[in-house]
This record gives sequence, C-alpha cells and structure tokens, in this order.
Amino acid sequence: MTIEHVFVIGAGQMGGGIAQVCAQAGYQVTLHDINEEAYDRGFQVIKKNLNRNVEKGRMTEDEMQEVLGRFTKSTDLQHAKTADIVIEAAVENMSVKTKIFAELDEITPAHTILATNTSSLPITEIGAATKRPGKVIGMHFMNPVPAMKLVEIIRGLATDDEVYEAVEEMTKKLSKTPVEVNDYPGFVANRILMPMINEAIFTLYEGVATKEAIDDVMKMGMNHPMGPLQLADFIGLDTCLYIMETLYEGFGDSKYRPCPLLRKYVKAGWYGKKTGKGFYTYE
Ligand code: NAD
Repeated sequence: MTIEHVFVIGAGQMGGGIAQVCAQAGYQVTLHDINEEAYDRGFQVIKKNLNRNVEKGRMTEDEMQEVLGRFTKSTDLQHAKTADIVIEAAVENMSVKTKIFAELDEITPAHTILATNTSSLPITEIGAATKRPGKVIGMHFMNPVPAMKLVEIIRGLATDDEVYEAVEEMTKKLSKTPVEVNDYPGFVANRILMPMINEAIFTLYEGVATKEAIDDVMKMGMNHPMGPLQLADFIGLDTCLYIMETLYEGFGDSKYRPCPLLRKYVKAGWYGKKTGKGFYTYE
C-alpha cells in the first residue's frame, strides 16, 4: 500500500497538527474543514508553528515554503476522491463521525484507508458505518501533535493486517512511535488519563482545594509537566466530556460518570484554551 496523498478532516488543534507533520514528512496534504473560516483559522496556526521553527533555526525559509506548497485547501468532501488515506479529526461525536465515514466510503476509491483520530469512540462502530470495515483504523495522535511522539494505533474488530502495517509504517515516517492497542472504550491513553482529570474536577467541585492547588500538587508531587485542570483546558473541555461519556456508556460503570462541574462548563461554552475560558482564562 503506497501512501502519497493524505486527506485530513478538521483544521482544529488536532487536524492542523496532523496535517502539519504529514506535510513536513513529505506527503501531499489536503486539509478539509466545514467552511473557509475554520480552514483559514487552522492554516494560520500551521503557518505560525512553521514560522517559529524557522526563527528557532529548526528549518530554513525555503524548507517552510516547500512544506506549505504541499497543502491543498478543501471545504468539499469530494476532494477526498484521490486520497490514499483519510485521517479524520472532526469533533468527538459518534453521529458526526459515522456520517463522515459513510460519505467517505462512497467518495474514496477502494484502496483508501479511512483512519480516525478519535480519542475514545469505538473504531469497530465507525467501521460498521462503511462497507470497508477492514480499511478502518484508529490513529490517535497526542496533543500538541508536532511535539508528541506517541500515536496509539487502534485495530477495530475487522481491521485488516495490511492496513495496520501501512499505518504503522506511515507513523514511523512521521517520526512518531506507534503503539498497538485493541478497540475498547478510551483505548489505553484516555482510559487512564481522563478518569484522573475527571477526579481532579470533582476535587475542585467538592471544594477540597483551589484549581491552582490541585494543579500544583500534581505538578510538584507527581512530576507531571502540567496540572490536570490546565491539561483539561488544553485538550478542550468539550472533548473531555465526550470521552467521559464514552467511558461511562461503554463500561456501564458509575466510576466513569462525568463531574457535574465539567458538564456545567461545557454547557456555558467554556471549552478551555480554544474558547479563551475554561478552568483558567486565556488571552
Ligand atoms: P477542535 O474543536 O479543535 O477541531 C475540530 C475541527 O473539526 C474544527 O475546525 C471544526 O470546524 C471541524 N469540524 C467539525 N465538524 C466537521 C465536519 N463535519 N466536517 C469537517 N470538519 C468538521 O477539536 P480537536 O481538539 O482538534 O479534536 C478533534 C478530534 O481529535 C476529536 O475526535 C478529539 O477527540 C480528537 N483528539 C483530541 C485531542 C485533544 O487533546 N484535543 C487529542 C487526541 C485526539
């Protein structure tokens, strides 16, 4: 399976980062979002990141122009018809993802791999929305994508071995480290991380300590580079809530119930860093 053209869906914090590392690794990249405004916002962030690399001497101006030259803009899913792989990074919502995958199944050629960057949703169920579940796979990048080494590669129940191998090889070409994981709620990363974040939110909700104190305990006491509440803001509180709901529904166990304070913030539109307000306030 030769992968040359990568079609990335969603120009948000994850999709933008995935598109950037793919272009830097030499792939032709089409970056797709629902409208021009969302695309432009995402593409500006990519340009800013690459400019910072030039300023820090990590790449030359010419190299940056070459990377930018590998991008094509899309607001029409039909542009996926020449893709060898699609990496979907739209919102963490099953009905949005299954709709996208069913459409991609009609648009893309038979050889196209359909990957999702979902943080927690079942790959098997997303695959079942298509007539090619063997070509559907999870490719879970970490945030921020350019800096983080790990990619969890998740096999759905029907994922073909050759698809797994092609995605593993591509991950290495992106200078990332693939880790193989089976398809259960939250996979490995978020099954362990998100209950810890949710518990930190409960700790704040119950008035055990201030947000700064909770984050300080975990930073200084556990050597975490970032406190759990700050990390939640960086991930996006909407995404955190979707993941907790997936764990709660998937395991049917009350230990995964999302904290009411998390629900309240999401209802208020306080999604964290991306909206300027979450547990903390951002410029
Ligand atoms: P985000 O809100 O920053 O970006 C989502 C983007 O998708 C937006 O630009 C939005 O306009 C676009 N979008 C929404 N619906 C779309 C559609 N139907 N078609 C095309 N584009 C659409 O979210 P994010 O943090 O980048 O998360 C994206 C995905 O990556 C989610 O599934 C999330 O769970 C997963 N993920 C997130 C993180 C994280 O730390 N934020 C880490 C790993 C995986």
